[in-house]
Amino acid sequence: MAKFKKRVIKRLYTPSFPSWPRRVWREDGNVVLQADTTAFRVDAGVLIHQSPIFADLLSETVLKSQQTYQSCPIVVLSDSSYDLEHFLKAVFDPRYVTTDDDSDLEVAVLTAILHLSTKYVIPHLRRQAIRSLRTNYFPSSLALWDALNLPNPPRRHTITEVVNIANCASETRVPVILVPALTICSALGIDQIIDGVENASPDDTDQAQLTPHLQRLLLQARPQLQHLALSKTLGWLYGHGHPCAQKCAAAKSRAARSLLDGTRPKQSVWFPLSIFDVSEIVDEDMCQLCVDDFNTSILPRRQEAWDQLPSIFGYESWEALTRMADSDELGSDISKPNPSRI
Ligand SMILES: [Zn+2]
Repeated sequence: MAKFKKRVIKRLYTPSFPSWPRRVWREDGNVVLQADTTAFRVDAGVLIHQSPIFADLLSETVLKSQQTYQSCPIVVLSDSSYDLEHFLKAVFDPRYVTTDDDSDLEVAVLTAILHLSTKYVIPHLRRQAIRSLRTNYFPSSLALWDALNLPNPPRRHTITEVVNIANCASETRVPVILVPALTICSALGIDQIIDGVENASPDDTDQAQLTPHLQRLLLQARPQLQHLALSKTLGWLYGHGHPCAQKCAAAKSRAARSLLDGTRPKQSVWFPLSIFDVSEIVDEDMCQLCVDDFNTSILPRRQEAWDQLPSIFGYESWEALTRMADSDELGSDISKPNPSRI
């Protein structure tokens, strides 16, 4: 069966080779890689030096049996041309992935690099991609979450990119990225969680769908996030707070009741990291002292909610996730690559 597949692939792609689009094409390269119908010409030695998987794939015995172009063996890969292009750029340019705050690499590019650096077992590249994703898009602290203006940043990511990185972080075992990505996804409607999402722009037809495992995880998490928002982030409603006129206390109590008994269906999910305004929660006028009391209580309460996010998605704590990411050494945490996909 495997042999048959190989023959079919060659018959489909090889004859039209010279007209393939070319990316990362180095005239002095000594191997041609093919992904989809795009060709890449690179130095095999660099790939062999960095990746044990490419060392096997580009061994002399394998290359001898390949077709050639200008005496370069042609090796067909099952990766997407987009993923392979950015992966190769990162392999051949150590400055391609940086952790600078102003890094302009999109989430999709970093997802591609995380995916293939894991598959081809290049730990330093995997760590670079994880660091950049954490610094620029999927933080491990509430302070950075707020600094990045999540979950609705002005330009940083599209919803399909977030779904794709959630799938990738799950497959490549990077929960420190998965937890903030799923937290962003928790604002999706049930239909979007089950049927998938697409970008709003009419020019952009990108679509993405969470894996069944992540769909289940998110559907289980949503009521817990709702509970966290109502009990923790908005816990001010149930406390004594600033002692003041009976009028405010009664208004708080009425607002708390309307939240808990569902007579205030303003949002499908109350997001536990929202910076609520007291007027969204309590319809009646409150004295300034109580408003100030609410505003000063919301930050520590959001922090408590943030601290509980990992456990909602099945992980111990942020400290444990950060420790795991920091010690992501030499493939110890890298999932085994699946040779059938190469
Ligand atoms: Zn008051």
